[in-house]
Amino acid sequence: MSKTVTVVGGGLAGTEAAWQLAQRGVRVRLFEMRPVRPTPAHVTDRLAELVCSNSMGSTLPDRALGILKNEMLTLGSFVVRTAFKHALPAGQALAVGRDEFAEEITARISGHPHIELVRQEVTDIPDGPTILATGPLTSDCLTQAVQSLTGRYLYFYDAMAPIVTFESIDRTIAFKRNRWDKSSSAGTDEGDYLNCPLNQAQYEAFVDALLAAPRIELSGADKELERYFEGCMPIEALAQRGKDALAYGPMRPVGLRNPSTGQRPHAVVQLRQDNVAGTLYNLVGFQTNVKWGAQAEILRMIPGLKHAEFVRLGQMHRNTFINSPTLLRATLQFKQRDNLFFAGQITGTEGYVGSALGGLLAGINAARLLDDQPLMQLPRASMSGALFHYITNAAAADFQPMKANMGLLPPLPQPVRNKRQRYATYADRAKQALDSYLCQMNFTPLD
Ligand SMILES: Cc1cc2nc3c(=O)[nH]c(=O)nc-3n(C[C@H](O)[C@H](O)[C@H](O)COP(=O)(O)OP(=O)(O)OC[C@H]3O[C@@H](n4cnc5c(N)ncnc54)[C@H](O)[C@@H]3O)c2cc1C
Repeated sequence: MSKTVTVVGGGLAGTEAAWQLAQRGVRVRLFEMRPVRPTPAHVTDRLAELVCSNSMGSTLPDRALGILKNEMLTLGSFVVRTAFKHALPAGQALAVGRDEFAEEITARISGHPHIELVRQEVTDIPDGPTILATGPLTSDCLTQAVQSLTGRYLYFYDAMAPIVTFESIDRTIAFKRNRWDKSSSAGTDEGDYLNCPLNQAQYEAFVDALLAAPRIELSGADKELERYFEGCMPIEALAQRGKDALAYGPMRPVGLRNPSTGQRPHAVVQLRQDNVAGTLYNLVGFQTNVKWGAQAEILRMIPGLKHAEFVRLGQMHRNTFINSPTLLRATLQFKQRDNLFFAGQITGTEGYVGSALGGLLAGINAARLLDDQPLMQLPRASMSGALFHYITNAAAADFQPMKANMGLLPPLPQPVRNKRQRYATYADRAKQALDSYLCQMNFTPLD
C-alpha cells in the first residue's frame, strides 16, 4: 500500500494506531507535539507516557479490564503486549514500569520503517486519512478546530495522585500486604502493596485537615470545578460527601490486618510500586487538587509518611472529549467523513487500556479502509464491542466517559444469580463472540 495515514497524538491510542497501520504496510505520519509544546500533565517527551497511576487494572480473566486486555491481545495490541513486558508486582493488577514501558514504545515507534514521527503541534484537522488521538489534554488550537467540526465539545476535570520515594516511607509503620491475602500470616512482610494504617482519631484529623485545605484554582467558571469524573474523584471532593466517605473509598481497610496489632485498621492508605527499580511508590486512588504546600503537609499526617519525599504532588486537569454518540460510528469513523477516525480518551473511552483499545480499532479500520476491506465493528457481547457500542449509542445529552465494566455487556439469556458464575459466563460469551467474529472477518492479528 502506498497511501499515508496521519495520526495525531503519540499517546496510548495514537501509538497503538500507528503501530497497527505500519504493521499492515501503511505509511504513517505520527504527530506528537511534546516536547515542543508540553501538556499540563505529561512530564517527559516519551510517547505513551502514563500521566498518573501506573496501573492498567485487573488481570483476572473474569473482570472487565481483564477481559478487555485479553481481547486486545487477541486483536494484536502492541500497547498491552508491551505493558505486560514491563509488569511490576501488583497482585492481580497489571502495574507497569512507566519509564521502561514508554521508552520501549518510543524506540519501537520511532524505529519503525513505515512511521515518520513528527514532533509538532497540529492546529487544524488534517485532510486525507486521519486518526485523531490527542487525548484529554488536546491542545487549545486543535480543540477549537475540533469544536468547529463537531459543534460543542465536552469536558470534565481529572486529577493525578502523588508519588513518594520508597526510602522516605517509614517501614516500621507501613506494612506490606495485599488485600484479602490469606496466605501471609500476621508478622510476615509479603504482598505488593505498602499499607499505612490509621486509627479513628488519625483518620478524623486527616479528613478535617483535608476539608480545610486550600485547593489549586482552576480557570473557568466555578460550576466547572464540580464536573469531576466519578471514577477519578479528588480525595477532598470525596471527603465532602461525608466523614466516612474516604474510609469506604480509597482508604477502605477491608481485607487488611496490621501485622503489628493483628487488627484491622480504621482506615488505610495503600501505596503501589511505580517503577521497575522499586524506588518510587504512588498513593493509590489519592488524586488530589489541594495546593501543593498544604498537600504535602496533610499527606505527611498519614502514619508512615511523616518524612515522605514527594517526587510528584497531585494536580487536576481539564479533560476534553467529544460527543461520540452523535458524532461517531462504532467503527470509530466520524459520521460525516469516512476517512476521519477518532481514538482514545477524546472519544470517551476512559482510562489507559480503553484509550489504547480505540487506537487499536481505528488503526486496523483505517488500514482496511485504504485496502477496500469491510471495516470492523466488534461484537456487542465482547467487552471491546460493548464499550464502542456504549460510546456511540449512549444518551447524548449527558454523555460522560466510560471505563470497561460488566454492566455494558448485554444481559445473559438466562439470569445467573451467583456473581462469580455470572462474570465467568460473561467472560466465556465475550471470548466466543470475539473469536467467531474475527474468524468470520478473516482477521489475522499482526504482532
Ligand atoms: C490528569 C490525568 C490523569 C489521568 N489518570 C489516569 C489514570 O490514573 N489511569 C488511567 O487509566 N487513565 C488516566 N487518565 C485518563 C486517560 O486514560 C489517559 O489520559 C490516557 O493517557 C489517554 O490516552 P490517549 O491516547 O487518548 O491520550 P494521551 O495519552 O494523553 O495522548 C495524547 C497525545 O496527544 C498529544 N497532543 C495533544 N494535542 C496535540 C496536537 N494538537 N498536536 C500533536 N499532538 C498533540 C499529547 O501531547 C499526548 O501525547 C488521566 C487523564 C488525565 C488528564
